[in-house]
Amino acid sequence: MLYQRSSQLFAEAEKVIPGGVNSPVRAFKAVGGTPIFVKSAKGAYLYDEDGNRFIDYINSWGPMILGHAYAPVVDAVISRARLGTSFGMPTALETEIAALAVSMVPNIDKIRFVNSGTEACMSAVRLARGFTNKDKIIKFAGCYHGHSDSFLIQAGSGAITFGSPNSPGVTAGTAKDTLLAQYNDIENVADLIAANANEIAAIIVEPVAGNMGCIPPNKGFLEGLRQLCTDYGILLIFDEVMTGFRLARGGVQELYNIKADIVTFGKVIGGGLPVGAFAARAEIMNYLAPIGPVYQAGTLSGNPLAMAAGLAMLKALNEDAAVFERLAAKTAYLAAGIDKVLRANEVDFTINTVGSMISVHFDASAVVDFKTAAKGDNEIFKKFFHGMLDAGIYIAPSAYETWFITDALSYADLDFTIAAVDQVSKTF
Ligand SMILES: *Cc1c(COP(=O)(O)O)cnc(C)c1O
Repeated sequence: MLYQRSSQLFAEAEKVIPGGVNSPVRAFKAVGGTPIFVKSAKGAYLYDEDGNRFIDYINSWGPMILGHAYAPVVDAVISRARLGTSFGMPTALETEIAALAVSMVPNIDKIRFVNSGTEACMSAVRLARGFTNKDKIIKFAGCYHGHSDSFLIQAGSGAITFGSPNSPGVTAGTAKDTLLAQYNDIENVADLIAANANEIAAIIVEPVAGNMGCIPPNKGFLEGLRQLCTDYGILLIFDEVMTGFRLARGGVQELYNIKADIVTFGKVIGGGLPVGAFAARAEIMNYLAPIGPVYQAGTLSGNPLAMAAGLAMLKALNEDAAVFERLAAKTAYLAAGIDKVLRANEVDFTINTVGSMISVHFDASAVVDFKTAAKGDNEIFKKFFHGMLDAGIYIAPSAYETWFITDALSYADLDFTIAAVDQVSKTF
């Protein structure tokens, strides 16, 4: 395939945008080459500026669960735009989507809309701190909760007591309030709580991890977190920015029947427009301004175009009783097909899937946390990524990303993908 026009556009972009991209994951830094510039997308396919077509497994990093340019969402945005694009005043639409979201997700009474997943998680933590009157939070290595300062903390051997900033610009003062734990290691969490008695406001977790590849929670892990939080007066925050309205109507709380105290959303909830949200029982949400002391605000929060898109998306998911089973069946089919050809080609790999999330790690050992996720062979991944791209299949340009299955994918698309994996993995 030729990527001439994309290369040209990237060179122009680099002059005026840092790294040529508005979010680092879009760059091809981990795999080499220049990013593909998209011209349009429809259903399961992306079309780039050079006229190439790709089967898309990124789907805007999750939102396009029903495929690109999904007609009910596009129509809702267009008709809403004609009525005015922003007012900074309440609209009936906000109550409509809030009521629908609250009816779909267990254990939440009220929801507030923001503009991104980052904002949702940042606000959820502030709310948890205000509600509990405690400062520290526990997060897990390899879990991503957006780019706000408190979350940009990575593992280090000394991390059992104090995290260390992994991005310049995050102050030591901020970092010391984020304690780092290992995913799927409940003992580790219990130790951190014991060492910081009465100081922890919240544990924030991706209840199915998706930002170090897809990693399901071990049996008992989420239950253990729930119990520890209940025992120690800590709020359990499920970051369902990726999993919400994707793994089930009610997200992971419904899938595994575990109750979180605060839930955050993004991605699917906006139907492809910039939307995030956080939600909890009324007692907690009523701590927010204007009725409570915790301040949180946004000029464009609840924006009518964004709400119209989100509402159309949630309605579609709510009204299609079989959609999540259909997505899981497509994912299982793809996983089984890839498993078969990689085995036949004697490649070391592990495939993890939950619902419509799937990741292929190029290492034979089980992937259960950040350390095991990091064992994947990046040289193989680079070959895999470029081979797939040239075959007309777009997966994320990083070995640490989950692939997102959309309902727009046909079984013929999945067969085409499996055949490409077969061909590409013969060249490893
Ligand atoms: C994408 C993501 C975020 C951040 O959302 P943005 O809209 O990119 O700010 C937070 N948490 C999780 C689990 C995510 O996958």
